[in-house]
Amino acid sequence: MAPVSLAGPAASAALAPRLENFRRIVIKVGSSLLVDREQGCVKREWLAALARDIADLHRQGADILVVSSGSVALGRTVLAFPNGGLKLEDSQAAAAVGQIALARIWAEVLADEKIAAGQILVTFGDTEERRRYLNARATIGRLLDLRAVPVINENDTVATSEIRYGDNDRLAARVATMASADLLILLSDVQGLYTAPPNENPEAVLIPIVTRVTAEIEAMAGGAASQLSRGGMRTKIEAAKIATTGGAHMLIADGRVAHPVARIGSGAPCTWFLTGSNPVTARKKWIAGSLEPRGALHLDAGAARAIVSGKSLLPAGVTRIEGNFARGDCVLIRNADGGEIGRGLVAYDASEAVLIAGRNSQDIEALLGAPGRAAIIHRDDMVVAGE
Ligand code: GLU
Repeated sequence: MAPVSLAGPAASAALAPRLENFRRIVIKVGSSLLVDREQGCVKREWLAALARDIADLHRQGADILVVSSGSVALGRTVLAFPNGGLKLEDSQAAAAVGQIALARIWAEVLADEKIAAGQILVTFGDTEERRRYLNARATIGRLLDLRAVPVINENDTVATSEIRYGDNDRLAARVATMASADLLILLSDVQGLYTAPPNENPEAVLIPIVTRVTAEIEAMAGGAASQLSRGGMRTKIEAAKIATTGGAHMLIADGRVAHPVARIGSGAPCTWFLTGSNPVTARKKWIAGSLEPRGALHLDAGAARAIVSGKSLLPAGVTRIEGNFARGDCVLIRNADGGEIGRGLVAYDASEAVLIAGRNSQDIEALLGAPGRAAIIHRDDMVVAGE
């Protein structure tokens, strides 16, 4: 397949995946869409219409996660900061003030659609360090099980420049892979990726489908960012690389219209970045191939059979612990003969694993002095031989 399809809108509509086929969708909303800088408030009507789009997909059974920017943009108007760049402590103060309002408004517009919203503020470390990553992933998973919509932003009030994403495009892509989403939608103030910057070049053409992010595609992205948001096209291309490697399709669409998601469904122009993989295989490949094992869990025959049949690994079936691993590390899973039958991300440190090995999950709280997860390796965090 050619890396770039320059087919016309009709052809692209036929090739583009359909929104109703996705099971878990992350929707990223940029600051310039949400915040009316002149009035200094959230564009409430626009947001209510987006919440209706979200509710439609949600009712059809999809899990929805929102990554919303806007805390700094909103907070700076409340605090009457002048236009232009802000010192770090001022943008953190603005984020602190703006995030409260942002969370409340999302909770309200989703409540109008009978959907519960749950706020999650993450830092770079929460998505990149495996032990914290497991926590964020577990909380998101539970909210989705409960049919709530997580509303996520970077924890800008504590993140400093060395340890922050700074733009929500890449953050949203990491959230998509962390949550095993199969689609990431970036709602933006452009219709998608053009062959050249559309405001400078009248010949620029919208690219409907990108099947692989090549150097040619990266060159088209340039570096421009809009005034309010941090991310320009370049961070969107970075996001596309993260999302598609993690098994999610991504699309960039114009959010400046009412019902932007419904319009994608009815064929509005946009750019799709397709993945050749899916979230489960991408994640399993990562666990199987990219992580250095830090130890091993030895299982009895019953537990070995259970995990081969697709179950999580419970401490009761673990007979011996090897190595000095930390929670979130990759460990080998060995059967009674010592043969490797899988690998996974372990939910406990080695010192805790030794205490709970061979014991019933109900006893974990008494053994460790704090409640813990029932599984020592959850089935989503495990690759078993033959998979
Ligand atoms: N986290 C920032 C905020 O809420 C936005 C970053 C971005 O615009 O991408 O203001």
